[in-house]
Amino acid sequence: KKRLIIIGAGGVGNVAVRKSARMEDLYEEILLASRTKAKCDAIAKEAGPVPIRTAEVDADDVQALVSLIRNFKADVLLNVALPYQDLTIMQACLECGVHYVDTANYEPKDVAHFEYSWQWAFREKFEKAGLTALLGSGFDPGVTNVFTSYAAKHYFDEMHYLDIVDCNAGDHGKSFATNFNPEINIREITQNGKYYEKGEWLETEPLEIHQNVDYPRVGSKESYLLFHEELESLVMHYPTLKRARFWMTFSQQYITFLRVLEEVGMTSIKPIEYQGMEIQPLQFLKAVLPEPSSLGPNYQGQTSIGCQIRGVKDGKERTFFIFNNCSHQMAYQDTKAQAVSYTTGVPAALGASLVARGIWNAPGVWNMEQFDPDPFLAELGKMGLPWEVVVDGKLAFGK
Ligand code: NDP
Repeated sequence: KKRLIIIGAGGVGNVAVRKSARMEDLYEEILLASRTKAKCDAIAKEAGPVPIRTAEVDADDVQALVSLIRNFKADVLLNVALPYQDLTIMQACLECGVHYVDTANYEPKDVAHFEYSWQWAFREKFEKAGLTALLGSGFDPGVTNVFTSYAAKHYFDEMHYLDIVDCNAGDHGKSFATNFNPEINIREITQNGKYYEKGEWLETEPLEIHQNVDYPRVGSKESYLLFHEELESLVMHYPTLKRARFWMTFSQQYITFLRVLEEVGMTSIKPIEYQGMEIQPLQFLKAVLPEPSSLGPNYQGQTSIGCQIRGVKDGKERTFFIFNNCSHQMAYQDTKAQAVSYTTGVPAALGASLVARGIWNAPGVWNMEQFDPDPFLAELGKMGLPWEVVVDGKLAFGK
């Protein structure tokens, strides 16, 4: 049996721990470590049957991580702390000879900038150490990468157009709250949009491009073009793509709140001086907003996330849509989490288990689409995220 360390006891960590702790044939013990031990204890108390230990750790500190990992004798580490910690955790995994899995690419704290270069730079070191690093095993990135590679493997000779469409048609009853870490969420959507077309990356103003997208069993929703990190690796690994875009729904109310917060300076990541202390407005805002994990009990509705792809198979044009819809209430009943944490925590637990079982295992640093999509998709539905496929049906973006 294997030994798993999970770092991060937030919304996603809660789901990943509960799901992993049900894999009693695979894991002999799990260690959940995070900045605040009390949060780990609260999760561990309710999860099982795999025994769970908890610990406090500062994941910015490589040496602290190294002694934690060595002590526990881990085989695999799942990082669901914040993107800022990716590099220190990868470094610690290398030093300890442990496989690494995460759900979001590294970002420096002082600039909102998403790209894989920092983590891809570890490739040779992981290869030499004979270790696997699996990057972005959440929903998007994560399942969306696997959806795309599944389409490439089974349905297309060449993929030409990719639109990833992400809708949260849920209602948590609060006037304003973010569904995952508010700091990461707000950093993501207040920066310029970016998409790929004809060999170039084109920039837009934040939320400049938007249109209605039809989501299955949800209906039509205004969706905004954002840059999302899986576009970077997908465009690289599928060079026949002529265009790749990412769309996400936001309600008018959400955008109005966000604009106000932005205009008064509350979303800034530049530290300001306040009563002799340096504070970052966005971090302060996070402290006053509802904890994303607290939204679960009253969350109604569902999420719908998928990939709309056009391309060619056997000389004929083909359209292909693959998606998952996830109900907030189902997610809450299964793991006491809302669907946004659930849709990330389930694939995180699944990705880590594929690495632990040696099914997705090769020395190096990998994005999700580089492994065989079939074993992942064979289990995703059973773990709570069933997916559906529509071939040659009507796509929101038409021909
Ligand atoms: P939360 O803020 O709820 O949880 C983050 C956890 O990490 C908290 O428990 C926090 O501790 C802990 N943490 C932060 N800094 C440190 C540190 N220096 N040392 C140790 N622990 C630390 O975030 P989420 O659970 O919503 O998100 C987790 C990750 O998942 C993020 O990287 C996010 O970007 C990613 N994500 C990916 C998605 C995908 O589809 N791929 C979608 C949604 C999220 P404390 O409790 O003390 O604050």
